[in-house]
Amino acid sequence: PSWPSQGAIQVKDVSIRYAPELPDVLKNVSFAIRPHEKVAVVGRTGAGKSTLSLAFFRILPISSGSIHIDGVDINQIGLFDLRSRLTIIPQDPVLFTGTLRSNLDPLEQNDDQTLWEALKRVHFLESMQQQATAENDEKLITIEDSTVASSVVATDVGSGITLDYTVTENGGNFSQGQRQLLCLARSLIQRNKVIFLDEATASVDNETDAKIQGTIRKEFADSTIICIAHRLRTVIDYDKILVLDKGQVLEFGSPLDL
Ligand code: ATP
Ligand code: MG
Repeated sequence: PSWPSQGAIQVKDVSIRYAPELPDVLKNVSFAIRPHEKVAVVGRTGAGKSTLSLAFFRILPISSGSIHIDGVDINQIGLFDLRSRLTIIPQDPVLFTGTLRSNLDPLEQNDDQTLWEALKRVHFLESMQQQATAENDEKLITIEDSTVASSVVATDVGSGITLDYTVTENGGNFSQGQRQLLCLARSLIQRNKVIFLDEATASVDNETDAKIQGTIRKEFADSTIICIAHRLRTVIDYDKILVLDKGQVLEFGSPLDL
């Protein structure tokens, strides 16, 4: 039940197309990632970066080749297990209507302290605090549950955020970067070993972006990270760079070697 426990990834000769009559958009892609490695994926628009993450989640079937994680072919894993044990954070993640708590822990398997710790570790609270200060908007920082608010564990005095903080439809009351931070918090709670992150676009402010990248290095030291990167700074900090070009691997190596 602890698969994957290491996070070793082997992609072998993977080809993928969006429909039988369409051409391959990934062509014989092969690479191997060691446990805990941080890999940045770069390439022009249309190179196949996002398609690669769809393959890992089996949203698109692989037409040939294989993906193994810790020696297990992902085709052998049930879809529900596969999708709950890998984390894929899209560029523009969607949240559920509800609360921070229901988004962080949909199956209600963790106590408040665990959820709260995760929010702190990904710097989500700082991000909300900064926003509240910047906008100087009292409406943003209403405390909705006084019982939770009175608990030392589950309240952040500075930002007024509680675990019962409302998440509106699709998470529309949070920025793109904040939604990514929440997804990172959820994956900390689930202790997932393999995380795909499609880095938020340039529209995300540098500070939130730095928080996301800092969190990955500090809090996910034991996880394998594959980050589709759009910023040079991101790329430099990673162990390996995978360069995709027109669906093929152009280069794969450490940033110093490329
Ligand atoms: P970007 O940097 O713009 O996000 P990307 O590297 O993520 O680009 P992909 O989204 O993986 O690129 O797309 C790879 C190729 O697959 C492109 O040629 C694209 O046109 C094609 N493609 C993507 N989505 C679909 C789809 N739903 N149906 C058919 N073709 C698609
Ligand atoms: Mg993409």
